[in-house]
Amino acid sequence: MRPLVAMYGCYIKVKLKQLYAMCLYTKYLLNKKYLPTRKNGYNPPTCNDERLKYVPIKCGKCMECRKQKKREWYIRLAEELKKHKGALFLTLTFNEDMYEEVRKAVNAGIRPTYEEENDMCRYAIRHWLELIRKRTGKSVKHWVITEKGEDYNRIHMHGIVWCSKEDVDAWRYGYTYIGDYVNGKTINYITKYMLKINENCPEFEGKIFCSQGIGRGYEKSTNARRNRYQGERTIETYKTEDGRELPMPKYYHDKIYSEEEREKLWIIKQERGYRYIGGEKCSTEDLEEWDNLTRYYQRRGVEVFGDRPDEWEKDMQRKRLERMRMARRRMREGSGVPGVLSRPEGREPAAPIINKATRG
Ligand SMILES: [Zn+2]
Repeated sequence: MRPLVAMYGCYIKVKLKQLYAMCLYTKYLLNKKYLPTRKNGYNPPTCNDERLKYVPIKCGKCMECRKQKKREWYIRLAEELKKHKGALFLTLTFNEDMYEEVRKAVNAGIRPTYEEENDMCRYAIRHWLELIRKRTGKSVKHWVITEKGEDYNRIHMHGIVWCSKEDVDAWRYGYTYIGDYVNGKTINYITKYMLKINENCPEFEGKIFCSQGIGRGYEKSTNARRNRYQGERTIETYKTEDGRELPMPKYYHDKIYSEEEREKLWIIKQERGYRYIGGEKCSTEDLEEWDNLTRYYQRRGVEVFGDRPDEWEKDMQRKRLERMRMARRRMREGSGVPGVLSRPEGREPAAPIINKATRG
């Protein structure tokens, strides 16, 4: 089956895609709010509205999800930049000696795995930031992502940091490259690393290390007034400086709307009678059309964007085993690398859109 949107112009296609793209592997799970959990003292409220029984959970891996996450960071970094100018764009590398030193410091194997290499980056970043903090007494706001180089597969990092060039010089693990005019283009460029797949190592996933609360405060800004809850007329989009409308980052959505409002918005969306798959409008009453479109775009994700749905679950299990192995080795050798940076997993969890209680 051929998607309808091809009939409209490119412009519409792109715009719709951006606004309504949704995970192609969405799972509908029981809403934990209405299940006995520790949070509700094993005494859940009764679910009076069957429409709230299930919540959509994103896979976090498919191209649509990755684009969505990229846009969320783009918006949050742009908001941060509005408030705090003077950020630096950074590339941080390891030289051979330091690579070796850090490898030993985190007890990685002779030929570190991707997980171990990300761990090495986490270690180096943490020590570098700690050094600056000791000297200046301030913690550096940062957003850094790891990448494998195209030519030599060397691990390195790109990031945006709010600190001085002297602070950057405190990086003692290798070369640094500094770009000192950070604007929307820079943020767009840097968050694009989240979408990049290195053909030499398609399983490698760039890890994000960042300060907590990047972009905090939008929800209280005058721009956020257009987003206030107004029942069916609620505008749930974020408007960029140049007037483009983008989906609201979950980070802000959760701050702007109360749990009750989020439930109401979810019901409103369900009652609209349509939803979007790969940017195409599809009736919620027609499950066959939905199924066909989903499969069409899943195939397209595999062919065009390198989605590897069969591998994602395996990758995750492999990663968890790997982390357990690393933890055992650290315990044995008594050189535990302490809890690192702000968030142990390094990035926002792919969470359902309804309420915090349902976070996995
Ligand atoms: Zn997905």
